[in-house]
Amino acid sequence: MSIRRISILGATGSIGDSALDVIARHPDRFAVAALTAHAQWERLAELCLRHRPDVAVMSNPEAASQLERALTRAGLQTRVLAGEAGLVEAARLPDADTVVAAIVGAAGLHSTLAAALAGKRILLANKEALVIGGAAFMQAVDTGGATLLPIDSEHNAIFQCLPTGYARKPAESGVRRIVLTASGGPFRTRPLAELPTVSADEACAHPNWVMGRKISVDSATMMNKGLEMIEAHWLFGVPRERIEVVVHPESVIHSLVEYVDGSMLAQLGNPDMRTPIAQALAFPDRVDAGVDGLDLVRRGALNFSAPDHARFPCIRLAADALDAGGTAPAVLNAANEIAVAAFLAGRIRYTDIAPACSEALARLPVRPVHALDDALAADADARAVTRAWLKLPLAA
Ligand code: NAD
Ligand code: MG
Repeated sequence: MSIRRISILGATGSIGDSALDVIARHPDRFAVAALTAHAQWERLAELCLRHRPDVAVMSNPEAASQLERALTRAGLQTRVLAGEAGLVEAARLPDADTVVAAIVGAAGLHSTLAAALAGKRILLANKEALVIGGAAFMQAVDTGGATLLPIDSEHNAIFQCLPTGYARKPAESGVRRIVLTASGGPFRTRPLAELPTVSADEACAHPNWVMGRKISVDSATMMNKGLEMIEAHWLFGVPRERIEVVVHPESVIHSLVEYVDGSMLAQLGNPDMRTPIAQALAFPDRVDAGVDGLDLVRRGALNFSAPDHARFPCIRLAADALDAGGTAPAVLNAANEIAVAAFLAGRIRYTDIAPACSEALARLPVRPVHALDDALAADADARAVTRAWLKLPLAA
């Protein structure tokens, strides 16, 4: 068995942490080729000491200099790179076969795309890249001969429930529908009147998962599920009307596939990202992820309900953006990134997030995406429009 050499883009984040945990359990199978982070150079230095990558990248150039000095002091041979160019180089290292795309937001787009064009096995966490890039991103995957393995828990569940070799053609495989489950987040039952004053920490206190702050807010607004509908559409070639969202507060069933004969296949497990990451890292083998099995008897009951669209308007905004096509999903994603960052910084209220996204979609015309640059232009426009509408400073 040859050792898989893995580059982790976004190694200091929540997904990076889970990926490194699984990798460290299997030194006979996995080795770390590259690790990247944004500004936390001390944390990346610790990870370099533990995992000994060939390459380490800080997207912030000042932090890269700090990291380089720290690694030299520690006597490590790791090559330190900086900036977007460094991320792209880490994504296409010739002696790495696998890339974990775990940078948050549009910041991960170029490096994830570079991995696609270089024909890597991509473990995709960075759903925003797919939401922005859509067909152009999938085209790059095909052109580069890359393999896309979803590690977003829902999409990994769907991947596990689809037939081996599934080629984005639901009808040929007898797939009737995809059901995405959603926990409903921390505000599923919170009185609506209290939502305008909820804090960032409350929004990030997810009942079942521990995640980075951006995706935690997305889970609270359920924009995350909206982005995941778009992600599922591109990954599995399933039209929007055949993707259903069901609220399942226990986060035990991670998603389901319904077939034309009426069978529904589901993937279940404890909510721990190491399970989907291990599944994709070892695919088609199975390896220990350090995660216990479910105690079904102790669980007792699982619950399901339809999402409340008045409480969670972002699901519909995302569905509409997917229907509108072209640049609309890129606009939605960019507006959401700006609004969520502003909410996390205490500049706007939680209840300003959905209207900011809706405004950006209303103000910007939908244009076709012939190439990724079209989507990137829409992303830039949406950021500017959203900053202006929210009366935020124009800085990055
Ligand atoms: P996080 O905030 O914990 O980590 C983000 C990582 O990206 C960090 O390593 C950070 O250094 C890096 N980063 C941030 N801004 C950057 C920039 N401008 N340039 C380069 N690098 C930058 O986020 P996370 O929760 O690990 O999520 C990462 C991605 O995975 C997101 O797209 C998220 O939607 C997706 N995802 C996460 C989970 C989860 O459980 N955390 C589950 C499913 C999908
Ligand atoms: Mg998910």
